Amino acid sequence: MPSHIAVRNVSLAVVTMGTALTVMAAGPTLHDGFNAAQAYAYTKQVVGFGERWPGSPGHQKTEDLIHTVLARTGATVEPDDFTAKTPRGELAVHNIIGKFNVTADPQQEIVILGGHYDTLFKKGFVGANDGGSSTAILLAIADALAHQRTRMQVWLMWTDLEEAIEAFQGDDGLYGSRHFAQKLAAQGLVPRVKGFFLLDMIGDTDLGVSRERASSPALQAFISRAADELGYTKYFFQSTSDIIDDHRSFLDVGIPAVDVVDAEFGRMGPQFDSMGEFHHTNADTLDKVSARSLEIVGRTILRTVELMDASK
Ligand SMILES: [Zn+2]
Repeated sequence: MPSHIAVRNVSLAVVTMGTALTVMAAGPTLHDGFNAAQAYAYTKQVVGFGERWPGSPGHQKTEDLIHTVLARTGATVEPDDFTAKTPRGELAVHNIIGKFNVTADPQQEIVILGGHYDTLFKKGFVGANDGGSSTAILLAIADALAHQRTRMQVWLMWTDLEEAIEAFQGDDGLYGSRHFAQKLAAQGLVPRVKGFFLLDMIGDTDLGVSRERASSPALQAFISRAADELGYTKYFFQSTSDIIDDHRSFLDVGIPAVDVVDAEFGRMGPQFDSMGEFHHTNADTLDKVSARSLEIVGRTILRTVELMDASK
């Protein structure tokens, strides 16, 4: 793995008061608070839990880790538990939502960053990129959000049972996100949610985030601006794709949503899965993920949150 040392840039505000000079440390920006080495360490830890399909011991360990990290960040935790009817029978589904900067304002705007933490029902599949990287980047983002103020509420959502049991057809797949998005609609919260950003398979060492066609262009524009500012232009939107993923559940209830997804995992070709040679294979292992890719996406998404927070 590339080693990475996180350097926290401290911005200094210099205030002149008469002859006295006061220097105030404003603290790191949100995006400079993202620790890529820690994001990689979380990925390694989660992959070490083994298979993480709903009901497996690895799934329970992942849930426990998410709750442990959220508890130390001071986020408000909202569980979203239900039973899904699937081709495998009834399955217990546990979405986990951590909410940051919730005020008493009943109209406070909300932005949601999501990613799935379940893995495919497949023997020996540990999903370092597919399931691992999304779980881990959200954990590192939780650390970055701790003790930071934003105007909007920032929700982190670990979606469960994203993977289809048989195939992404009809209602198979996206179980957790569909349940939660419909709950937001029933609660009348849709107008307050300014965006749902789905992070999926973004740990790929050979990073290339696709411009997913069903996603909201306005949110992709925020991401492009953030990436340009940070010097990451070449990693975003150089290719296009159509992906059925958790963002669709939010689009379906009228929430702007974007799939931040690397849709080409390994070599492409007719002999491989449509998302690349490692997708949904037991070769989706830790060596396919890099701290650098987690850093590029983590910093860009947090810069995106800053830009949205500042716009009104
Ligand atoms: Zn998958």
